[in-house]
Amino acid sequence: MPLLSLPKEVAVGTAMLGIAFATGVLAGKRYPSLIFGTPKSSKSVIGKNSPLWQYILDHSLREHPILKKLRLLTMEHPWGRMMVSSDEAQLMANLVKLIKAKKVIEIGVFTGYNALNMALVLPDNGRVIACDINEDYAKIGKPLWKEAGVEHKIDLRIKPAIQTLDELLANGEAETFDFAFIDADKESYNEYYEKCLRLIRKGGIIAIDNVFFGGNVVKPRKNDLAVQSIHRLNEKLLRDSRIGISMLPMADGVTLAFKL
Ligand code: SAM
Ligand code: CA
Repeated sequence: MPLLSLPKEVAVGTAMLGIAFATGVLAGKRYPSLIFGTPKSSKSVIGKNSPLWQYILDHSLREHPILKKLRLLTMEHPWGRMMVSSDEAQLMANLVKLIKAKKVIEIGVFTGYNALNMALVLPDNGRVIACDINEDYAKIGKPLWKEAGVEHKIDLRIKPAIQTLDELLANGEAETFDFAFIDADKESYNEYYEKCLRLIRKGGIIAIDNVFFGGNVVKPRKNDLAVQSIHRLNEKLLRDSRIGISMLPMADGVTLAFKL
C-alpha cells in the first residue's frame, strides 16, 4: 500500500515545486525569485501528471505522518508551492543521517517542512539553525514541530539569512556545521554558498535548491537577475576545487556540494 493515501495531493505538493513565480508578492512584500517559473507551467524535470512521477512517489516516499500533516497544511497556504518537494526532502534527511550530522542550516524555512524533516533525523542534541525573514510562515509549522517532539532542535532566527550566517561566523562556528540547505532569495545564492562553505566542516554537504530555475538556466535572460545569479553559481561550482559536486535532476534541480 502506498505510504501516502492521497496520491494526487502528493503529486501536487511535490511536483508543484516545479511551478512558481519569477517575481512574487508574498505577505504584502515583494520577494523576487524565491520560487521560479510561472504559476501555469510545470517546470519539474518529470511532469507532475506523468505516471512515472507517480511511480517514483509510490515506490520511494516514506513520509513521517507529521511531515505529511505539515505538507497538507502548507498546501492550503496561497504560497504553498514554495514548499520543498517531499522526495527532495527525503534525500536530504538520508544525507543528514548518512554523515551523522548534528548541526545543520536551513536558509529559507517557509512553514518549516524541511526544517522538521531534518530535525526528525538529527540526534536529540542536534540543531537546525533555521533562517527566515518571515515569522508568520514558521508559525504555521511550529505546532507540528512541537507535536513531533523536535521543537527543541529547531533554532528559528528571524532576520536576513546573511546576518545570521555572519553571526555564526563571528561566534567562532566556522567548520562546525555538517549540512546546509540553500533555498531562499536566489540573488543571494552566491553569498549564502560562500558563507555556508566556511561554516561547514570538511566532508559536510551544501544542498542548493532550484538550480534549474524552471529550465531557464539553459538560456538565461539578461534582465532576469535570479536566473543570472543561479546560472553564475552553477558555472562557478563546476570549477570550484573546494568541493565535489553532483547536480541532480530532482524537483527543480538540486546541486550537492561536498566540501573537500
Ligand atoms: N525550504 C522551505 C521548505 O522546506 O519548504 C521553502 C523555502 S521558500 C522557497 C523561501 C523562503 O525564504 C521564504 O519563507 C522566505 O520568507 C525566505 N526568505 C526570503 N528572503 C530571505 C532572506 N533574505 N533571508 C532569509 N530568508 C529569506
Ligand atoms: Ca525551493
